[in-house]
Amino acid sequence: MGILEVKGVGKRFGGLQALGDVNLSVQENTCHAIIGPNGAGKSTLLNCLIGKLIPDTGSVMFDGQSVLGRKPFEINQMGISRVFQTPEIFGDLSVLENMMIPIFAARDGAFELNAFSSVSSQKDVIERAEKVLEEMNMADKRHMNAASMSRGDKRRLEIGMCLSQEPRLLLLDEPTAGMARADTNNTIDLLKEIKEERDITIAIIEHDMHVVFSLADRITVLAQGTPLVEDTPEKIKGHPKVREAYLGE
Ligand code: ADP
Ligand code: MG
Repeated sequence: MGILEVKGVGKRFGGLQALGDVNLSVQENTCHAIIGPNGAGKSTLLNCLIGKLIPDTGSVMFDGQSVLGRKPFEINQMGISRVFQTPEIFGDLSVLENMMIPIFAARDGAFELNAFSSVSSQKDVIERAEKVLEEMNMADKRHMNAASMSRGDKRRLEIGMCLSQEPRLLLLDEPTAGMARADTNNTIDLLKEIKEERDITIAIIEHDMHVVFSLADRITVLAQGTPLVEDTPEKIKGHPKVREAYLGE
């Protein structure tokens, strides 16, 4: 039994069957990659895991509890944290202020701006945010405007914002999309470090095979909303169906 069990999940958008019949089992403390061509349904699947979308059919269990019917912040409180395809930091705020947001959110259930008004609660949150920035090797950047950082550092901040909540499952949707090679390699190194040093399960959607083969313990190939094959990176590399799924890319 995996920490995440997806069974028979289907999702339709009007006439388009974005997910057919998805079965997926992610084992605790592994890194599981989901790959597949554009439009395969990867982001849709991820959105079904975090409560942003509700599947039409099937079940999603996290640590033995159903996530279906729960709101995104409730699923977040169950121990699932996610990094989206496009950066979701607040460019006008400092690095430290950005880091404070998920810490407030984890504590208060939902983020409320007036949480900032309580001085004593702010002190705890600042201390926690400073600590996470240190763990991320970003302490020297804490007063920088978040928008002025490199793409790789923005990702590092976002991943740190997730980790500040001490999730058991970290979900990433194409974390290196649009990055230069140096930033991609920094992100790979960061995720490797997280994988080795923390008690955490990682599920990553990724297009870049270099990233996938650097990190994944298991790989599921999704094509047209259905898993084609699931195996170790070594087996996936030579799999004819995988090559087929990528034809036309
Ligand atoms: P991937 O992340 O693998 O590239 P997506 O999950 O984003 O694929 O999309 C799967 C399919 O569902 C695509 O054909 C996409 O156009 C469609 N789709 C995704 N989200 C929506 C939506 N909110 N409304 C309608 N169609 C959507
Ligand atoms: Mg996507």
